[in-house]
Amino acid sequence: MAATLDLTQCRQAAAEILQRCEQLATLTAVRGKIDRRYLTAEHKACNAEVKQWMQQGGLRPWQDEAGNICGSLPGRDASAGTLLVGSHLDSVPDAGKYDGILGVLLPITALRLLSEHGEQFPFAIDVIGFADEEGSRFGTTLLGSRAAAGSWRQDWFALQDTAGISLKDALVEFGCDATAISRASRAADKLVGYLEIHIEQGPVLEAADLPVGVVTSIAGARRYVIDIVGQAGHAGTVPMPLRKDALVAAAKLVLLIEQVACKHDVVATVGKLECAPGAPNVIPGNVRMTLDIRSGLDPQRDAALQEIRDAAELLIAANGCTAAWKETHNAGAVGCALWMQDVCADAIKAVGYEPLALLSGAGHDAMAFKGVCDIGMLFVRCLGGISHHPDESITLEDTAIALQTFCETLLQLRKRITSV
Ligand SMILES: [Zn+2]
Repeated sequence: MAATLDLTQCRQAAAEILQRCEQLATLTAVRGKIDRRYLTAEHKACNAEVKQWMQQGGLRPWQDEAGNICGSLPGRDASAGTLLVGSHLDSVPDAGKYDGILGVLLPITALRLLSEHGEQFPFAIDVIGFADEEGSRFGTTLLGSRAAAGSWRQDWFALQDTAGISLKDALVEFGCDATAISRASRAADKLVGYLEIHIEQGPVLEAADLPVGVVTSIAGARRYVIDIVGQAGHAGTVPMPLRKDALVAAAKLVLLIEQVACKHDVVATVGKLECAPGAPNVIPGNVRMTLDIRSGLDPQRDAALQEIRDAAELLIAANGCTAAWKETHNAGAVGCALWMQDVCADAIKAVGYEPLALLSGAGHDAMAFKGVCDIGMLFVRCLGGISHHPDESITLEDTAIALQTFCETLLQLRKRITSV
């Protein structure tokens, strides 16, 4: 089975996608860097640009009450429901050009190509450029996608940015009707599923020499702040066996975390470690460190965490210290629907590649649709696995292959839906 669209055609269209990514990169709050946050002037300019591209691509565009920019391709059969396709248009501070952006712009071009090719769908396809995924302005992530998934929380209106502007005021200023935010919800619609294409943001595809891959699930993270208390003392007078060095205990804990994570095949990170009082001639009495632990399988992650906590207690006590753990985040893993994984894998095979299954260690808009509809996700190789950084990069060839794969995924999905 060969792909419906040929690669030469996709290469030309891929150039358009990459050129548009460059164009959106200029819509930023900070000159020379990419910084585009929720409900800002640059977000508004971005939506206006994307709206125009949606229109040119034959989609019917509108902005919802959460500030998401949406474009609909009507289906032939009004009762067949809607396939949601999306990713985000906001960024972290000093971001790359493709995180989220590619997943909005590539589907717009894909639908144009398929229409030009005479392809029609029984179900409607709505492309959504989510307004907030990163949470860079109000500190809470997935605001755009959670509005679309019908899980917006009323208390979010009171969230404030660093300038003290509330989310509610920012919405009104942006031109949204905050009192009608529930209208952004698609949860009550008949949904075929939610499909997202995103750069991998990791090095696995590159290591496997593959341009695209199928996501099996999005890892759920648990995060802790761990306070280790020992005894500060004079670096010259307290003999080694009598010390209660909190940093030595913390160092042993870091190594333990690495060891247990490898054993259980999960990822665990100590990303922050502060030591007090913090002088060269004082034994550290206090350490505050963080732990972020993730897996595509919650039981596997929790088993690793339990082992870390059990062993940590003994280890820290052996160093004469105590530890207090505070959980700051706990999210479950979100699995991609098996049938949608199959559809993505069939598409990748049709394009001529091995469908490598990948776990997403990073969070994505797709997570918001857990329990709302079935989820499918494709990853595209990015250079060096680098993301959330200006060096984020993808090649024209990979973009063309990703475009070909995405078109094929939509066609395989159509085949699957119409055969049931
Ligand atoms: Zn992203």
